[in-house]
Amino acid sequence: MEFRDLKEQYRRLKPEIDAGIQAVIESSAFILGKPVKELEDKMAAYVGRKHCVGCANGTDALQLALMIWGIGPGDAVFTSDFTYFASAGTTSILGGTPVLVDIDLRTFNMDPDDLEEQIQRVIAEGKLTPKVIIPVDLFGQPADYDRILPIAEKYGLKVLEDGAQGFGGNIRGKLACSFGDMSTTSFFPAKPLGCYGDGGAIFTDDDEVDARLRSLRAQGKSPVDKYDNREIGMNSRLDTLQAAILLPKFKAFVEHEIDDVNQVAAWYTERLQDHFITPFVPEGFLSSWAQYTLLLDNKEERDALQAKLKVNGIPSMIYYPRGLHEQQAYAAMQLPDEWYPNTMEATKRVLSLPMHPYLTEEEVDLICKVLLEA
Ligand SMILES: *Cc1c(COP(=O)(O)O)cnc(C)c1O
Repeated sequence: MEFRDLKEQYRRLKPEIDAGIQAVIESSAFILGKPVKELEDKMAAYVGRKHCVGCANGTDALQLALMIWGIGPGDAVFTSDFTYFASAGTTSILGGTPVLVDIDLRTFNMDPDDLEEQIQRVIAEGKLTPKVIIPVDLFGQPADYDRILPIAEKYGLKVLEDGAQGFGGNIRGKLACSFGDMSTTSFFPAKPLGCYGDGGAIFTDDDEVDARLRSLRAQGKSPVDKYDNREIGMNSRLDTLQAAILLPKFKAFVEHEIDDVNQVAAWYTERLQDHFITPFVPEGFLSSWAQYTLLLDNKEERDALQAKLKVNGIPSMIYYPRGLHEQQAYAAMQLPDEWYPNTMEATKRVLSLPMHPYLTEEEVDLICKVLLEA
């Protein structure tokens, strides 16, 4: 069994994907060829943003967005403690300071109460200037924008939605990657919408930001003269071959994969909810199920279940084994575990099960049987 079955998806989409790859090779337009703009336009229309700008990966997408706002030394960027490294790492590489926020243990997303406490702490200390909040749509579920956006407004902060895992989710029909001032996503193969290598995108409603992002992803070049570099940028374009692969995958994603993966989640929850803490999806929220993550009673139970699954040939993952405040790269910040009680719980108790739109009910049955027998 696969944790995320990309082979089955390819088997079904092979004619379109192969034709797309072939057309790019025959056109020889490898850099910013037609499929890139076509994908950008379709994705912007889908999420309900005015612009989508492709780039090399989801990490660069975050960095480019932070560069638009000139984030650098002395700036505080608030992000979740329980996530992939990128939202904090991109802040640091620009010279800014990530301020890590504890999570809500029910959703694994940024806790708005702790966010406000951390903002007030930074203001009271007076060393950093609060600038940006990067909420992460973890495991496919949008963060609590109903509460985070008003906090951002109260303190005059920008919001950058990290939708790398959230693409396809929504809150009362408003889609992930449309919240806040800018949003980003990743096309890393295992994400809800993945390509066959690296890729990413940034979303904005602002025409000037769109134009600057297109310049910043190409060394800060002028739109009319590519050897006129107006500001310091990156070399971070979405590869044309990857865009061609994404076009049929995006079509399948919208047409049925998002429904199918929600059906798989319902099968899991039906079978497991009386015995385990299954994922909590608040009223009005839809997850795109980047992960289906159980919260077990303690580390011993979690580790025993993972071992039991393994001997039965069922892969499972621990996302994430440590909080960002525990990363060696941030040891110098000396952030105390006591600030992150929910992250500390989650790292010991989470277990993510195989999850993708092509999982069958029989496979879910088998996985749940092993878990319930354990
Ligand atoms: C994967 C991921 C990223 C980074 O995306 P890459 O394309 O791998 O650079 C950023 N944030 C989150 C939450 C992610 O899961």
